[in-house]
Amino acid sequence: MHKFFDGHEALKNINLTFNKGETTVILGPSGSGKSTLLRCINLLETPERGTLSIDDIHLDLSGSVSKKERLAIRQNTAMVFQSFNLFPHMKVLENVIEGPVTVLKKERIAVIEKGKMLLAKVGLSHKTESYPSQLSGGQQQRVAIARALAMEPKFLLFDEPTSALDPELEGEVLKVLKDLSEEGKSMIIVTHNLNFAKEVADRILFLENGEILFDGETKKFFDNKENDRIQSFIQSMQ
Ligand code: ADP
Ligand code: MG
Repeated sequence: MHKFFDGHEALKNINLTFNKGETTVILGPSGSGKSTLLRCINLLETPERGTLSIDDIHLDLSGSVSKKERLAIRQNTAMVFQSFNLFPHMKVLENVIEGPVTVLKKERIAVIEKGKMLLAKVGLSHKTESYPSQLSGGQQQRVAIARALAMEPKFLLFDEPTSALDPELEGEVLKVLKDLSEEGKSMIIVTHNLNFAKEVADRILFLENGEILFDGETKKFFDNKENDRIQSFIQSMQ
């Protein structure tokens, strides 16, 4: 895909395949196109040219994308944002069940059970009846993760999920991400946390100026001795 903003090419002919069960971490300097890439995968931004396929959905992005197609892509690629984005007027459990009930039209009783299970999984069984404003940032982000999981997407997308959190709250969210990764969920995560990337990622993508400078195994990225740009990036983050 290609993505332009006012003539500036934010994604330059990006061609990627993401496999089921893999955790990919996207690294790169600020402004390199990491968020744009995630948002294009989710069709929050629409690339001017390219194709996007998930299983039996195949879209030619040069033509127009219908509302139905956009919704199908969104349902298969749930996004967790830096700023949590919970519905402030809804209690925690209501936040989690909202999508499955209203978008997926699932039976409310079954969804409530599932929602409680997902909240237990992220360590928030005791907060189902709280409002987002009564939770810490780390807890709110864990609700956002449970809400994304409730949609049963094929891919989970995370755009700097811990960068709005204090360091002591970051760990509890990273632990949830690590558990999901070990469970075999298919995840694409933008982060600046290199230790997390090293520990959890199966694959690293390194972006700069809308191009992919590295796409490969995590170990190869961190052991890389040839690419000066990657070495200086890693050094600058330490
Ligand atoms: P990153 O997430 O790696 O920091 P972004 O994907 O946010 O980078 O941005 C990539 C490039 O696209 C930057 O030059 C940025 O200024 C530009 N850009 C991103 N979103 C928009 C937008 N909505 N309008 C105009 N330019 C944008
Ligand atoms: Mg970004």
